[in-house]
Amino acid sequence: ESPLDVDRLRADFPVLDRTVASGAPLAFLDNAASTQRPRQVIDAISDCYERYYANVHRGIHTLSEESTSRYERARETVATFVNAAHTHEVIFTAGTTASINTVARTWGDANLKSGDVILLTIAEHHANIVPWHQLAERTGCRVEFISVDENYNIETDVVAAALAKHQPKLFAFVAASNTLGTEFPVRQWTQLAHESGANVLVDAAQSAPHRRLDVQDWDADFVAFSGHKICGPTGIGVLYGKEKLLEAMPPFLGGGAMINEVTTSGFTCAALPDKFEAGTPPIAQAIGLEAAIEYVRAIGLDNIAAHEHLLCERADSALRALDGVQIVGPTPDKKGGIVSFHLPGIHAHDVSQTLDRDGIAVRAGHHCTMPLHHFLNLNSTTRASFYFYNTLDEADRLIDAIVSLKKKFAPSGRRRRRSQG
Ligand code: PMP
Repeated sequence: ESPLDVDRLRADFPVLDRTVASGAPLAFLDNAASTQRPRQVIDAISDCYERYYANVHRGIHTLSEESTSRYERARETVATFVNAAHTHEVIFTAGTTASINTVARTWGDANLKSGDVILLTIAEHHANIVPWHQLAERTGCRVEFISVDENYNIETDVVAAALAKHQPKLFAFVAASNTLGTEFPVRQWTQLAHESGANVLVDAAQSAPHRRLDVQDWDADFVAFSGHKICGPTGIGVLYGKEKLLEAMPPFLGGGAMINEVTTSGFTCAALPDKFEAGTPPIAQAIGLEAAIEYVRAIGLDNIAAHEHLLCERADSALRALDGVQIVGPTPDKKGGIVSFHLPGIHAHDVSQTLDRDGIAVRAGHHCTMPLHHFLNLNSTTRASFYFYNTLDEADRLIDAIVSLKKKFAPSGRRRRRSQG
């Protein structure tokens, strides 16, 4: 039984009451792409713009001081949320993508040289692949991948062997795959990487919204996640980095706020975290993110995980039982609330378009994991992804819709004849 009072939570989300173009009520199962926002987050953003918004850090006037203190309070809330040792280890960025690019451009350019290796898993999102390809182009370093096994998982001894073989400078991996849903043992892998002399970057985009996050327990050197997947605004994300590493890293973007002094011949850097926050930061977004984190913490990450597990189990087991449905991902005990599947002979875009007519929002395509899809020999998959406001009824609607979709697309005699002609 779910520990959550989902009806009460859903009342906080105005958008969940709407219907789609066909008139069907919305079942929003595209949360791995982006979540919805509760009234509390929308209000925090409006409140900022209506009552105290001004640029931060620079002005010595009431509104700027209020904005600055709310912006910095948001940083403290994030630091507590991830259990950072220091508040200034939390850098606000535009999102996971910006966070990873920052590490690649600064730590990467400063520390990698020709022949060095960046180790990734094949399950990475493009945001944790392309910046390393770009770094390889700049420095001559190499990117290597660890494959997933037939259970859509990676066993720890396989990670240990890859670390021993490649001796990477950095092991960058996803805590929970946005396509497979697989959750990897971050603490264990980080420890192995450190023992082999590698630094670790964790892409926590799909884990921060769903699981308790403790960067000190993980002992990761860098952790990245996005606000919009945790009920917060778009345009805000987090780069956590260990103080020592961040202090040694050169800045990435140059401009206002990141400097101590500028002269005609050069500049000196501001201290952390300002060093990595050039220009006017996403102020209202940070304040919205704080409201989102408070909202999610009040529900309880363990309760969220338990609720999502129920929904995942329901959808996963029902779809697995259907003929002609291939679940692309491990069993529910090994994953978060993500069920990706493939219906041989039916294009994922047709699946998602048909489901949309029933009000069910899912994602179809490669989900920014093209190397993974190539590895699995799939062009595309359909992905249902749950959050705490989804109901068992919505999971059942998904199952029913797939059952009738399979009937509709089943090759009839007429269709076969036509395609032969
Ligand atoms: N990594 C993973 C695992 C993701 O799921 C996503 C978002 N789909 C990203 C990175 C990129 O996040 P953003 O688009 O917010 O930068």
